[in-house]
Amino acid sequence: MSINSKSSKIDERLENILIIGNGGRENSLAWAIQKNESVKKVFLIPGNAGSERINKCERLKIDINNDNELVEKLNFLKIDLIVIGPEIHLANGLADFLRKKGFKVFGPGKDGAKLEYSKSWAKKFMQDALIPTANFWKVNSLEEAKRIIHASSIPLVVKADGLASGKGVFIPDSKDECIRAAESIFNGKFGDSGNVVVLEEKIKGPEVSVFALCDGKRYVILPSAQDHKRLNEKDKGPNTGGMGAYSPAQLLTEAYLDRIIKEIIEPTIDELNNKNIDYKGVIYFGLMITKSGPKVIEYNCRFGDPECQTIMPLMDKNFVSILQKCSMGNLSGDEKIDSHDLVSGCVVATSKGYPYEYKTGYPINIGEIDQNNCQIFDSGTSFSENGELLTDGGRVLSIVCQEKNFDMVFEKAYKNLKEINFDGIYFRNDIGHQVRKNFSKEN
Ligand code: AMP
Repeated sequence: MSINSKSSKIDERLENILIIGNGGRENSLAWAIQKNESVKKVFLIPGNAGSERINKCERLKIDINNDNELVEKLNFLKIDLIVIGPEIHLANGLADFLRKKGFKVFGPGKDGAKLEYSKSWAKKFMQDALIPTANFWKVNSLEEAKRIIHASSIPLVVKADGLASGKGVFIPDSKDECIRAAESIFNGKFGDSGNVVVLEEKIKGPEVSVFALCDGKRYVILPSAQDHKRLNEKDKGPNTGGMGAYSPAQLLTEAYLDRIIKEIIEPTIDELNNKNIDYKGVIYFGLMITKSGPKVIEYNCRFGDPECQTIMPLMDKNFVSILQKCSMGNLSGDEKIDSHDLVSGCVVATSKGYPYEYKTGYPINIGEIDQNNCQIFDSGTSFSENGELLTDGGRVLSIVCQEKNFDMVFEKAYKNLKEINFDGIYFRNDIGHQVRKNFSKEN
């Protein structure tokens, strides 16, 4: 009896947490995780310069590909829970490896990550489970693609099958453009990720992101979010990794979310079980709300930026124990997840030239920032030799604020953003325009 209760205490210990990844997503996860009193340390491999401003955080200099060194160090540090951020590590089976070594891991194994790293597999998965999604064709050669494109009477989108850092989707305006997109993929634009192409019916409607934390059987849903993928105001310009977001997404009523749960979320988890996939991690549902109902555009096997940065400040301090329960397969499904009635918004500041070529290494000046319900999460920053904060990526940092309504959120975010400066700083002024009442009046 005493042995059991002792070992279950160790099982549930939540003192030392490791987050793998180096972006704004990982920093926002670290920020939400450290709020829990039982957490003593949050380690990041590798993290970025901004991680060092977060309470309880420490960056570890370990080569994630050096298995022996990694396991030895994590045992030495008595790591209680590992959260894996980037999809590439999940697709490479890092979660499987660490679980085999006895660690608790939040993040699916290679089998579950296939929802993201093979679009054709994910489409077939949805077809098997009757989950609503756009019609599709899996194509193995350019000739086959041309045949389907020429014969098609509906507009198509063209997607590289594998991981392509969010750049593998083309939304062409004509059949010629469609063919050029398929050509560029088959010609190796994305390496092996483009050995297979998915042609998909082009569908229409507003988009919304829903995240479910899953323990293999049960799940907890996070507040929904909407992001702005396009570089320029009025949602124009090239696609980016995300220029800003807000949460919750106002277009999702409770009744509509119930419909999404019944038609999409539960059938997805059931189908994972049918395929004997023990999915312990987050499932991101990229959805389009069409006239005929919600449809899945894509699955991701990890949190997405900048939605994650927007949602994390809304989390209850219990958030980390929910991740732990997922990793142990013991969610009740009734866990309280968000802590207050505030809404949240995020504005991303990028380097000049992003998402194309850009320079890095510019000093970043941060003035007086609100200490209350306002966070800066770094995505691409580093330190110079003498400790100066420098730009080190396309998306440099984000400002995230929480308030009673979205007008107040974005007023605060833009006011604080004025306090941040680096050479070539760029951001959109219209993030959250759909939900800012003052914005629609002024524009
Ligand atoms: P994905 O990386 O699959 O999320 O695609 C990137 C973006 O392309 C999505 O956010 C949508 O705006 C758009 N998209 C993807 N699939 C379709 C589709 N079947 N019809 C219309 N737009 C799409």
